[in-house]
Amino acid sequence: MISIPKYTMGVGDRFGRQGKAQLGAMVAAREAGVRISPVWNKSFREHSIIHTEPASVRIEADAAVAALEWDAPYFVDADHINLKTVDGFVEASDFFTLDVADAIGQPCDDAVLDAFVAKHTELCAAVTIEGLEGCLDLNADRLRAIAGKYLFAVQEAGRIYQHVADVRAAGTFVTEVSMDETPEPQTPEELLVILAAVADENIPAQTIAPRFSGRFNKGVDYVGEVAAFEREFRADLAVIKHAVAAYGLPSTLKLSVHSGSDKFSIYLVIARAIREVDAGLHLKTAGTTWLEELIGLAEAGGEGLAIAREVYREALGRYDELCGPYADVIDIDTDQLPKPDEVDGWDGPRYAAALRHDQACPHYNPNFRQLLHVGYKVAAEMGERYLSALTEHAEIVAHHVRKNLLDRHIRPLWIN
Ligand SMILES: [Zn+2]
Repeated sequence: MISIPKYTMGVGDRFGRQGKAQLGAMVAAREAGVRISPVWNKSFREHSIIHTEPASVRIEADAAVAALEWDAPYFVDADHINLKTVDGFVEASDFFTLDVADAIGQPCDDAVLDAFVAKHTELCAAVTIEGLEGCLDLNADRLRAIAGKYLFAVQEAGRIYQHVADVRAAGTFVTEVSMDETPEPQTPEELLVILAAVADENIPAQTIAPRFSGRFNKGVDYVGEVAAFEREFRADLAVIKHAVAAYGLPSTLKLSVHSGSDKFSIYLVIARAIREVDAGLHLKTAGTTWLEELIGLAEAGGEGLAIAREVYREALGRYDELCGPYADVIDIDTDQLPKPDEVDGWDGPRYAAALRHDQACPHYNPNFRQLLHVGYKVAAEMGERYLSALTEHAEIVAHHVRKNLLDRHIRPLWIN
């Protein structure tokens, strides 16, 4: 079976031009003594909006790997796929994020539920777990309630996994089960029950992406109580270790944090927690690379800056259309959005300062940043004009893409 390396980082690249710059950040990490493998991810939604095919991500990843002579593992992620969308990804991908969030809460067969509860007597009483203070508060009724909520979703993951395994040889791809795109976080008790069910379904999951407490808005920092997140994250680490031993799940199984990018205020606690128990981590950053493209173009001035300004004007004019698909994962205070005429008066460094995720900078505007984060459709519609600006200013853009991943993400998590 293809084993996932201990540390992996999901890197999104909406326009497929920054693979080398992204990989460059991992090369720098390796030179600093930390091995992180890239996982290039692009979801069905992003492909639909940009009109690209999953094969393009494979081409980009392979080209970056060849150019930088990267000899360590790397992956192409069929990101957030379900039974309806998986087929287009099967050939190009070797990492499958099975998204079953929509199946949570769907009723499963009573007989199946009875059998699950009868089989898992070990989950019908309080469970003591190494590394966890106190114990997990389970009993037969709670187990039944939790299984009633999640069993159908795990079985759905099993169906998607089987569908992929029918086409590709089993063991030639990495499997992730994701339940993060749902409003309610999963508790450590729920995670344990979910993992028992994952094992029952014979899904060789190597990463699991729960929904954590707090807000994971796109491109901006974590909103929530950091101490509570830390307790939950540490409990989840302990639950995973326990479940691997108890249910025979792959020993490489680790947490996947679908960060929505830039959750800087929890990086420190994640770093501390994984180091203390020697756990692995898959950290997914999403559209942060696209925003670095805009920053690079703005700083380049001329046509680059003109494009950056236009993307903002257009995105603001199409606010509802662009924000709609992301409504659950953005919090924009529209009163704080600058007028397009004002933005047209900004020079490149001023535009970049409003956009760059530097919370210490007085010009940083998280509302501006979130709107642009979901505004990539506007750049996609510019087509060749946008792409040739990326080509013309490739150097400054790549500089920002690489520096952002290395300094703001990899260093605080793995090097510090
Ligand atoms: Zn996700």
